[in-house]
This record gives sequence, structure tokens and C-alpha cells, in this order.
Amino acid sequence: MIAIENITKQFPLAGKTISVLKGISTNIQKGEFVSIMGPSGSGKSTLSSILGCLAAPSSGRYLLMGEDVSKAGGDKLAKIRNKHIGFIFQDFSLLEGISVVENVMLPLFYVGIGRSAARKKALERLDQVGLGHRINYLPRQLSGGQKQRVAVARALVNDPLFLFADEPTGALDSRTGIEIMGLIQKLNALGHTVVQVTHSLHHCNFGKRILYLVDGLIVRDETVQRPIFALDEVEDKTTANLVNNIWRLGLAASKQEGAQADFAELKRFYEAVKEDHKCLLEAPQLFCQLATPDALHVARELFAHKDWAIRAEVIKYCKSFGREEACTFYLKGLADDNEWVRFLAVGAFRGVPVEQISRVLQDALVEKTGDKDERIRATILVIIAGWKRSDLKELVIKGLSDPDGRVRANAIEALEIMVTSNSERAELLKPLLKDSNNRARANAIKGLLSVDKQAALEDLHKMIVDENNLMRVSAAWVLRFLSKSEAAEVLVNRLTKEKEEGVLSQIIGSLQQLLGEGITLAQLLVMIDSSALSQSKG
Ligand code: ADP
Ligand code: MG
Repeated sequence: MIAIENITKQFPLAGKTISVLKGISTNIQKGEFVSIMGPSGSGKSTLSSILGCLAAPSSGRYLLMGEDVSKAGGDKLAKIRNKHIGFIFQDFSLLEGISVVENVMLPLFYVGIGRSAARKKALERLDQVGLGHRINYLPRQLSGGQKQRVAVARALVNDPLFLFADEPTGALDSRTGIEIMGLIQKLNALGHTVVQVTHSLHHCNFGKRILYLVDGLIVRDETVQRPIFALDEVEDKTTANLVNNIWRLGLAASKQEGAQADFAELKRFYEAVKEDHKCLLEAPQLFCQLATPDALHVARELFAHKDWAIRAEVIKYCKSFGREEACTFYLKGLADDNEWVRFLAVGAFRGVPVEQISRVLQDALVEKTGDKDERIRATILVIIAGWKRSDLKELVIKGLSDPDGRVRANAIEALEIMVTSNSERAELLKPLLKDSNNRARANAIKGLLSVDKQAALEDLHKMIVDENNLMRVSAAWVLRFLSKSEAAEVLVNRLTKEKEEGVLSQIIGSLQQLLGEGITLAQLLVMIDSSALSQSKG
């Protein structure tokens, strides 16, 4: 389609000639999307003006559709341009005094097409670039991106052989620039041959082939293995660029009334960059700020991410969804495996009035419909206990019969703070002496020590010889709340029979504590000795 051979271009300058193109040969086939890429001053514009028939070469041969155009004069070149080439420029080059549709019709007048036929073609092209609804606007009433779309429609109106774009996105912000690249890619996919000039390392990868120009020569001719798909800019791994785009999209979405439409794009983008950690770290703030139901959905998804840093970001920004929603995030945050997330969640809770959260907490504790995560239910009880509000006592009591043992264990701890009457505590705790969960059972024993010592000790004796290791570990833990002699007796008794390492270490921990409290090592050794002795005798 295009074949150039040994093209040169010289300019006279201050009595000398400077050589700008020094012998360029290449072919461009139908359907290609070629980027001419190179540093400023390398001759890109000069080469492109020759390819676009805006200027003739000093020497060499230029065959366009088999026709030698290298020697053509100004009129001939103008004719060729009008017939075969559509131009898009960085500055759009629209005529300000006439409407959008008239701008697009213009090239057709030069080739003698009548007004109504021209208008019909112009309208088709404007529809194609998505501007069918702006045909009677003046250029200055349009945004930069819309102006460039008009320019694209104008370039296409006479069905050119090739579309020529000199820095088509140079005057646009990068989001709009990508939209225009997307449009050009779409046209290329429809069969239009495209040549673009760019000095952007990024933009040259939207095409399928790059001609690198340095100092008037082609130094490399490269096929782009994986062109960036402008509508799906994910192929671009320059994170900073992605982050910028996320923000651009996000800000646009939050500003516009049609946030819904833009949200879809934002979500798609988010899906695409999911694997890029740095981008994903930006997502919580962005989606939380949007604060729409859709965004809440994304925020929930982000909060389930395995990386705690992302969960922490959600905690930081979720208050924009309103207090109630935010509280549900904080609650989950309190039960998070990661310390930092828990820390942030506690901090966030601190600013929330108790009246406002207690409903959220109650809901989370409701049987069946409450929070499914037992760690959350357990944490709620600790929070409630911290508030020491008697009106929340019922919640704690409800926790005593929670299906999960960890929750019951925490409820017992909370009970110690919330319930002051001894008889009531005794009544509530007694049923938990036989609890199947070791921590709940140990807490129940500990709680009962001050209100029904006999019942507590009885169960402790059973628990410390339980065949379940965990039970014996927790029983050994309870020992530190007994009087020295009571504890030492149980300990010594057990120490001689115990074989499990975990239980032994608990026993030793408690012993250490007892030693600190005045029982001498000698006394302990005597007790151990005598019991071992009686055992061996027995
Ligand atoms: P690029 O587009 O790669 O930045 P250009 O093709 O515009 O490069 O210019 C390449 C060199 O040719 C520059 O040094 C420029 O000054 C020179 N040049 C371009 N056009 C002319 C001209 N009409 N007269 C004299 N020098 C020119
Ligand atoms: Mg240039």
C-alpha cells in the first residue's frame, strides 16, 4: 500500500543544507497500525508529512497504491491527500466558526460532493465516533476528547486509504487520550490502516508495529508482541499509570450524576488490576469515597482480601458508608487475624457513640441471623464488658448459650464485670461447669471460685484428669487462681502422673507463679517427693 525507498529530505539553513531524513525505506500494508516513534528532532514530523503527501521528499521513491508520488507537485499532492488520507492532529485543527457536522463535511466539498450527500456521510461518521448527539455544537462547546472525535470523524469522512495521526493524544489528559486510542484501535480493527506519530513510549504500544526513528534513520522496525488494548489498559504494567487511571476514573465517577455508568467502568478496571497489589491498595479509599451500594459491595469484597494491608485500608475509609455499615466493618476488623487491622478497628470504634453501635452489636449476636463468625461474636462480648453498662447485660447472658465455645468463654469473662450479684452469677455459671469447651469450662470454674467454691473445686478435680489434653491444660491454668496450698496440692498430684508436654508446661507455669508468691522450692519438692513416694508405694 505504501512503499518508500531511500527517502531523504534536506532543508536549506543559513546558507547550508541540513539533512533531516537520511535514506528511509519501508513498506506499510493494508490493515497495519504503525507507530513512528523517536526522540524530538529525529525527523518524525518530516517523515510523516512526506507519507501524508503534505510535502515531497528531496530524493527517493514513494509509491502509494503503486503510484509514484515522489515527484508530484503541490496540486497533485493535495488531490492525493483529499482522496486517500485522513489526518488527525494534536491540536484537532477544527474550524471554530462552523458547527461540528460542517467541520466533518468539509473534506467532501473539496472533492466536489453535494451538500446533502456530504451531510449524510458526515452524520454517519459522527455516529460512529459517538458524537451523533452533538452535531450542531460549535467546536469550542466541546471537550478536548470530543473535539478529537470530531477530527477522527472528519478524517474518516472520505473513506481514506489510511488514517494519519500526529500525536493524536498529545493535547488530551491521559484518560481521554486512552479513549481516543481506543477509538483508533477500533477503527483499525474495522480495517482502516493507521499510521501514528508519537514520542510516547507508552502510546507506541497501542499499535501493532513500531518504527523507531533516530537522527533521520529507521534504527529498528519492531512488531509489538502484545499491543496494549486501550479499552482494557491492564496490559500496561506501569503501576503508576494504572493508579492514576484508577483515580481518574474514581474521581469522574464520584463527581458525575451518571455515577452508575462510570462505576461499571471503574469496576471493570478494578477487576483488571486486581493482581496489581499497588493498585489494589488504592481501591479501598476510592470505592469507600464513592459510597454507593455498588461501591459497598466492592468494599466488602476488598475486606475479604487475604492481604491485611488492604483490609486495613477498608477500615480506614469505610465510615463514608454511614455509621451502621462502618460498624459492621469495625466489628469484623476487631476479630481480624492481623493485629494492625484489629488496632485500627478498635480505634475506629472509639469514636462511635455506644447508643449507635449497641444495635449493630445486638444484631450481630442474634441467633441464626447474627454474625456467622464466632470470633466476632466473642469480640463483641469483650467490647460490651468494657463499657460496663448494665443495660447490655442481657447480651452477655445470651452469649452464655452461644453455640460456639469461644463465645461462651468470653461471655463468662464479661459476666464477671457485668453481673454483680453472687447468687445470680452462681446460677448462671453452674450449668457451664460441664461445658464441652475447655476455655468456657475453665472460666466457669474460675468465676465460681468466689461464689460457690465447693462446686468449682469438684469440677476442677474432674477436669484435671480429663482425657482431653486441652481440658487438662485449661484446668492447670485455673490453678493459679486457687490458694497456694490448694493449688500446690492439685499440682503436685498431677505433676507425677502427667505425661503431656502441654499440660506439664502449664503446671510448671503455675508453679513458677506460686514460687513467686511465697511457697519455697523446698516446700514444693517435699510435696512432690512425698506424693511420688506414696504413689510408688501404692
Ligand atoms: P520530530 O517530529 O521527530 O521532532 P521534525 O521532523 O519535526 O522532528 O524535525 C527534525 C529536524 O528537522 C529538526 O532539527 C528540525 O529543526 C528540522 N526541520 C524540520 N522542518 C524544517 C524546515 N522546514 N526547515 C528547516 N529545518 C527543519
Ligand atoms: Mg514533530
